[in-house]
Amino acid sequence: MQTHLRAALSSTIILRYSSFDTFIGQYVLPFIYNVLLLPLYTNKEHLWRHKAVVCKDTNGDIIHPISSILTIFQTGFDLGSIALFKEIGRAAYQNPIPQEWQLRGFGSTLYRNIQPRAEKHAEAVALEHDAWEVRNCPVCGAKTLLVYGETETEGEDPLAPEKIWHFTTTVECTCCSFSIDHGLKNLQEYGIAEDDYWWVKE
Ligand SMILES: [Zn+2]
Repeated sequence: MQTHLRAALSSTIILRYSSFDTFIGQYVLPFIYNVLLLPLYTNKEHLWRHKAVVCKDTNGDIIHPISSILTIFQTGFDLGSIALFKEIGRAAYQNPIPQEWQLRGFGSTLYRNIQPRAEKHAEAVALEHDAWEVRNCPVCGAKTLLVYGETETEGEDPLAPEKIWHFTTTVECTCCSFSIDHGLKNLQEYGIAEDDYWWVKE
């Protein structure tokens, strides 16, 4: 019995993906977040917090992905919401668009060029990869969010199909790397005030 117990304790514990999310979201993240709010870490937010995102909730308040994840775990587990806010938070840490204070004073010219360059690059990528649309990104705010789609047909003759469907499938920001596909619902379904990414036209 003791041998079994020792073996079980010493073996690697593998959690399923959703269980791992629950473990992090319910126990680890609130603990770390509360530690970081202690006076010891006052004025050190720049060391751990991501840049602010630009998207807002339906009340007009800026989205805070970490707080949103904490709230979701307190109010009930929803895989889609967790996946979305994790992705927003991840991309926010990758966001290269300068903060307001970086646009003032020494070196500001360098910072000021980052967004226009990113937007030109997005236009080039959109052309190269046949993106259907370029929009403003909900995370970094630059016009660098590429919307991709697909077309499907129905009928015997591919040259004269009976029906044609156009639908969007993926959005991807070439600036901050925010990326989701239509496995998630439109952002308004998660309380984010953004126009629909996913649509179908016949
Ligand atoms: Zn972005």
